[in-house]
Amino acid sequence: MSGIRPTGFLHLGNYFGAVKNYVRLQNEFECYFMVADLHSLTTHPDTKELKTNVQRVLSENIACGLDPDNAALYCQSHVYETSELYLYLNMLAYIGELEKTVTFKDKVRQHENNVNAGLLTYPVLQTADIILHRASYVPVGKDQEQHLEMARQFANRFNHRYGDVFPEPHAFNYGDELVKVPSLDGAGKMSKSENQYATLYLSDDDELIRKKVMKAKTDSGPTEPNTPKPDYIENIFALMKLVSADDVIKKFEEDYATCSIRYGDMKKQLGEDMVSFIAPIREKADNIRNNEQYLKEVMEKGAEKARKSAKATMELVRKAMGLNYY
Ligand code: AMP
Repeated sequence: MSGIRPTGFLHLGNYFGAVKNYVRLQNEFECYFMVADLHSLTTHPDTKELKTNVQRVLSENIACGLDPDNAALYCQSHVYETSELYLYLNMLAYIGELEKTVTFKDKVRQHENNVNAGLLTYPVLQTADIILHRASYVPVGKDQEQHLEMARQFANRFNHRYGDVFPEPHAFNYGDELVKVPSLDGAGKMSKSENQYATLYLSDDDELIRKKVMKAKTDSGPTEPNTPKPDYIENIFALMKLVSADDVIKKFEEDYATCSIRYGDMKKQLGEDMVSFIAPIREKADNIRNNEQYLKEVMEKGAEKARKSAKATMELVRKAMGLNYY
């Protein structure tokens, strides 16, 4: 189980941190992937663009290879049981631990005029989304590690207090570790809403992709053989490893080690490899997005599957909690 907020255009971080894993997981497990529209209300209370954004996230997920006939692909707000479980879990979450969450502290800084209770209890809602399907694997990027630790805590707390209902949820990635796709400016990670010129979106056109990559921060290159790479150079290599062929990466690694690297050439190559990677996804997503009827059917089908699983879990939850009086 996993989700993506409809707060903007999907980017390379969403793809390599999350969606790429969804596409593989759907063939091996019973999967639930949602557009986290309720979560987006914590920071984006204006809902004028919401429908378009929900359609965009759905289209981009499908364009990346998610099959709505295989996994359940649905909207968070279509599954009302989420809100019920969220309420029960809120009684098991302590203010102190919620206030210490790194993402909460970041959001308080970013949205100082809208520090609402939904922001504070964001990890509780996220836990409800996950354990509502009694999910074990949660494909997410590195930035979600702490939230998953909290989800484990809350699930275990429920089990200890009321009896075993939930398996422990764990952050999941097919590689060795959770992924963080760095931004092109050498500072932080790619993100839907921050540093947009340093983020590659799956909707960027070819010229924009090339331009953004060419602007990535570099320097005049190493002067001593085998100098450790500064972070911003490390990031360019990291991005190259996502989309470029092995022999291309090897060549630039050797050029770096022998001080003969030309960053202009490297960025040109990276730009072309990014274009080859992003363009087919962008084109597919554009076609899907224009088919509103199809997207409606996807949402309905997904909601039906998700509600079925949610209902079964909530029966166990109410019974475990002693809330079944007749
Ligand atoms: P969000 O865009 O915050 O709704 O996140 C959706 C998914 O994308 C989550 O699983 C995040 O962990 C993942 N994600 C977002 N940004 C990045 C990034 N720069 N690198 C890796 N994963 C990311």
